[in-house]
Amino acid sequence: IKEKEDNLISASRLSLGVLIGKGEFASVFRGTLHNHDGTETQVAIKTLREEQLDNKESFLAEARVMTKLNHHCIVKLLGICMGPSLQMVQELVPLGSILQYIDAHSAEINPNCEFEIWAGQIACGMQYLEENRLVHRDLAARNILLASKWEAKISDFGLSKALGSGNEYYKASQGGKWPLKWYAPESYNYGHFSNKSDVWSFGITIWEMYSFGATPYGDKKGAEAITLIDRGERLERPEKCPQYIYDIMLRCWALDKDDRPSFQELLNFFMSESQYTNITELL
Ligand code: ATP
Repeated sequence: IKEKEDNLISASRLSLGVLIGKGEFASVFRGTLHNHDGTETQVAIKTLREEQLDNKESFLAEARVMTKLNHHCIVKLLGICMGPSLQMVQELVPLGSILQYIDAHSAEINPNCEFEIWAGQIACGMQYLEENRLVHRDLAARNILLASKWEAKISDFGLSKALGSGNEYYKASQGGKWPLKWYAPESYNYGHFSNKSDVWSFGITIWEMYSFGATPYGDKKGAEAITLIDRGERLERPEKCPQYIYDIMLRCWALDKDDRPSFQELLNFFMSESQYTNITELL
């Protein structure tokens, strides 16, 4: 990042607005970026919290990943501010996460419309990550943000990793706090992460959507959910989820990663479904 001077934003060009989100490591504020040509851009400013200064390296690693990405289904990094506090300046995705949106608008949502479009856009962004040899490792509804009702974007690259050349998976070291309920069996058993383990998490993410924001495996702890999966059990079909979508989820949760669909296949499926739905809805 240091080499890419044009990515650095001085603190004097930023005005901090209201707090819009809080994660484990960072606080996110709405803000204004004062451009060199005198114009202003509304942005999201993600700030590493004081008590999390030990995680400076991982915060910078997240920025390093995001800086390489340029896709309409992925939240864009506009630049980084090195101090006084460490900040990532991102495109503002104003409607917040799909979980927040579903919570506030559940009565107006048509699952055959919004959810299929969001699922197609997530698959599209994930397919781009796959092309760029990256694994996300934290794909979950809480990390999908909405620019508008029809525009979902993947965020939170805090756990993402580049795959080495020739390696089809990334081997994680021990430790850290893992979102176990979103993880594929090869990830929680052996620490293996690949685009196919992201496909498992994609299945959980769309399950969260179709169940209107329910928590996967309810109150069960991560370890209990794993026992259930190892017994061959899977999350049940959410009431509002059509069988043909649930069949896709079940394929994402195949034990053998080679039996899971690819993101390209998921993209084709959801794009053609949502186009069909859209046209019929509009007629
Ligand atoms: P985690 O605990 O999942 O690691 P984190 O500390 O990395 O979280 P984020 O999840 O990236 O922080 O951000 C926290 C919240 O801030 C998000 O849930 C979202 O509501 C909001 N947010 C993050 N980025 C943006 C953005 N670019 N535009 C609008 N809101 C955002």
